[in-house]
Amino acid sequence: MRGQAERPVDQTGLRRLNLSRVVRSLRADGPQSRASLARRTGLNKATTSSLVAELEQRRLAQFGEIVAGAVGRPSQLVELRQHAVCGVGLEINVNYAAVAVLDLTDQVLFSKRLPLDVVELGQVAAIDLLANLAAEAIVAMREAGNWVTGVTVAVPGLVDVENGVVQHAPNLRWREAAVAERLASRLDLEPEAISVDNDANLSALAEHAVGVAAGASDLLYLTGEVGVGGGVIADGRLVRGATGFTGEVGHMPLNPDPAECGCGRKGCWETQVGLAALMRAVADPGDEVRDSAHDLEQRLRVIASRAAAGDVRTRAALAEIGSALGVGASILVNVLNPTAVVLGGYFALLGDWLAEPARRELSERVMATDSCRLLLSDLGFTAAVRGGAHAALDRVLADPSIAPTEVPHLGGIA
Ligand SMILES: [Zn+2]
Repeated sequence: MRGQAERPVDQTGLRRLNLSRVVRSLRADGPQSRASLARRTGLNKATTSSLVAELEQRRLAQFGEIVAGAVGRPSQLVELRQHAVCGVGLEINVNYAAVAVLDLTDQVLFSKRLPLDVVELGQVAAIDLLANLAAEAIVAMREAGNWVTGVTVAVPGLVDVENGVVQHAPNLRWREAAVAERLASRLDLEPEAISVDNDANLSALAEHAVGVAAGASDLLYLTGEVGVGGGVIADGRLVRGATGFTGEVGHMPLNPDPAECGCGRKGCWETQVGLAALMRAVADPGDEVRDSAHDLEQRLRVIASRAAAGDVRTRAALAEIGSALGVGASILVNVLNPTAVVLGGYFALLGDWLAEPARRELSERVMATDSCRLLLSDLGFTAAVRGGAHAALDRVLADPSIAPTEVPHLGGIA
């Protein structure tokens, strides 16, 4: 007993770690008996039962179906509780802002996307709009009796993750945007529950968790937005680099036409394959597909239907962009040697026309062709918000003891 009294922090830390192991096993391996949880986590049965009781009290887990056990004795399965605990993902991009709320079982509890012109709106107003979107989601969740673990914002730019500051997002025209601080002042959440990350990083995490390349230990995600970013997972982990700016692939100098990029340089890859390049190539100004007041997915569907109908200009533009996409991707695949390249955003929505020319370039230019698949994301424009919601849920997965034991208050928004 004396030893325990001398190490109270260690004991609490150990309990936290063990709670986390149980929750992560339920998330990865699904509903299971306490005996199976004990086996999987390497903990003894008494400890496992006590941990499960605490998770139940904290509304993270619940008892489900009764099944016949290995020795004929029935046992009750433990499962993650749906709805009760949720994370909020936010995304801001050139053409839209979005929010999605996921629970621990990856169910989408709330989602919304607003078309807007972020550059015209300006930095401060855009962050306030994000705060309003988050507030709407948080209020809806609290009214339903759910506990919100936190909020993670996806931004297409260079993010100081430690401080929640967007250092530079060229396509949004943002500089030194203290996003986390501003959101903390507006939302009824503790500051450590709010974080900010690069959109391609969060999308890569979502793809790795639930997307078409789920579980792939080495994958490259490419965002097809106005900016083109890369999210790199190597050996099962997100690669951030020395200063956190890994994946600025849109600025590889690949465009033979020295078109000006949002970053101020000329000839960047995203001036060739980014969304703005696509819009310029498929339609003249004034065409409905170039009207940013309309939802981006709707506009892309119009482009897809024109391609399907055999429209010559649309088909030629998509073939050219697909091929330029393949050239850039082949450089990255030769450097990173991933097992999958996942195309997201508009690349996925127009994948029927972009993937073939891209694959042709990859098969000609990549050394390890056989080991890498080019896949279209099925998360579309939701990958970044989903990744954000996942990141927000990570807080409670790492330390389940932060979950309250009582149904949270209906507290409002500052
Ligand atoms: Zn650039």
